[in-house]
Order: sequence, then C-alpha cells, then structure tokens
Amino acid sequence: MKLEKFTEHCFAFTGAVTIGYCVKDGKGLLIDSGLDDSAVKKMKRILDGEGLPLDYCVITHAHADHFGGARYLKSKYDIPLFALKFEKAIIENSILEPIYLFNGAVPISDLRNKFLEGQAVEVDGELLIGENIIGPFIFEVIDLPGHSHSQAGLLVDGILYAADSYFGSETLKKHVIPFIVDADLTLESLERLLHISCKGAIPGHGRFEEDISQTVKNNIELHEERMNSLLDVINTSPGGKTFDHIMREYLELHSINVSNVGQWLLFRTSVTAYLTSLERKKLLSFLIQHNELIIKPR
Ligand SMILES: [Zn+2]
Repeated sequence: MKLEKFTEHCFAFTGAVTIGYCVKDGKGLLIDSGLDDSAVKKMKRILDGEGLPLDYCVITHAHADHFGGARYLKSKYDIPLFALKFEKAIIENSILEPIYLFNGAVPISDLRNKFLEGQAVEVDGELLIGENIIGPFIFEVIDLPGHSHSQAGLLVDGILYAADSYFGSETLKKHVIPFIVDADLTLESLERLLHISCKGAIPGHGRFEEDISQTVKNNIELHEERMNSLLDVINTSPGGKTFDHIMREYLELHSINVSNVGQWLLFRTSVTAYLTSLERKKLLSFLIQHNELIIKPR
C-alpha cells in the first residue's frame, strides 16, 4: 500500500484495492476503508507518518474489499461513516452479500469469509446523488450502478474516485468476467463516465489516469463481447439448455477454471446479469422444463 498524491487535496492509497483520501482545512476524508483491520492499520500508519488527519469515511459500495475495515475504523478511531441508502443497508447487515449469492438462503459456512462478508457496521449518514457536504468537503456523488445496485462515484476537487464502475486494464484481464449485478446499468454507468469532465480518475482496482476514455472503452467492449459470446452459447441449442450447462460451457469458453464455491457464485451473478439483459432485449427466455431451469433462444 502506498499513498499517491494527485492534487493539493486529493490522494489515494493504492494497492490491491484503492482507498481514496482527501484533505482540506486540517480535516481528512477517506473514500472506502479497505478489506480489513490490517488495511486500516497500514493506512493509518502512513497518515500518521505524513502528519495527515483522518475525520470521515465515505463508502462507495457494499463489497467487503471496500468496507470490510470500516468497523475497525469506527470503533478504534471514532470515524463517522457515510454511504448511499441501499449500500448502507448491506453494510449494516453484511450477511446479505453471502445470502444473495446463495440464492437468498442462509449461506453455507464456506461463504462466510472476509472476502464475501465484511464486518457489519452502522453507517452514520446517508449520501445523496449530487452535491454533498461533509465537514469542509464539498463533493459530488455520481450514481454509478451496475457493479453493485447503488454504487457511488465521488468527484472531489476535479478528481473522480470511480469505485468499481470500471476496472483498470490489468484487472479487467485478470477477472475475465467482471462482477456485475446489472449489465445494462453497468454499460450506462460506463457511458456516463465518458462524459464526466475531471482532471483524472482512479478506479477501485487499477491506476490513476488523467484520461480514462480508452480504459472505459475497453470495459465497454469487454462487456459487449461477454454478452455476445454468452448469446452464442445459448443460440447453439434451439431447444434450450439448463442454466448449469450454460455456466459450464461459458466458463470453459473463457478458459476459466473455478476453484471454489464463492468464486463460482460470483460468476453466476454476472452470467445471470447478462442473461437478464438479453431477456430484456427479447433474445432469449427463461422457462421450466422437467423441473429444470432452461434458457432458450427466441
Ligand atoms: Zn466491488
């Protein structure tokens, strides 16, 4: 983890996951908290070493790698937390992530790990889309849903903290099928990013760039390809295929070898999101045949 400076007021701790940091009038604002207590300790050590303050924390979305450290941040340093309403509900009831991954049922113990279930913590304030004021900070919250149901991007002093609305090129390659909950909203949010005027932006996973347009376009192209290749898998069988069959073929097509249940369920959510988008476009339909969930081309 290292602290990078972008402008007089805007910084970020970079590493596996970005933690944004802004300073103004002797106050410090964090954007996300990292995965766990250890991430918070490292970050705090760096701030103390630089003599930089810490007063508030905004959480961009309720994924464990972005808010898992927030409970420690709040209990140890008394830092108030802020999030959009929907994400706040999950942060405060963090078992909801393994629950939704597990079809809404109580999750198996395999799923109850720090990567899928951050430490639940009460959020002190709700953010609004548009202008927000926290202490001396005046910033814009941009609605960037798709990767999560109500993800927030923050525009502070001309720097866009974009959360996981787009991924850096290396991360995109590594994930192969990025996590999304809604393919259409993901693409709309990516399109929105192309029209935000800023001095530069940093994603939740990836590096700072002054001009993000090419990286964002790479994200758009990847989702379009993933959706088209999924439709190809569906179209090879006019009578339809089971959901599990589609999952297997699709993961094989992209040379993915899943190693654990959690990872498979994350992929399942993305595949479901693509299928839902294709269903909205009337390119396929969901039906039950012989007690199996079948997806069939239209
Ligand atoms: Zn995320």
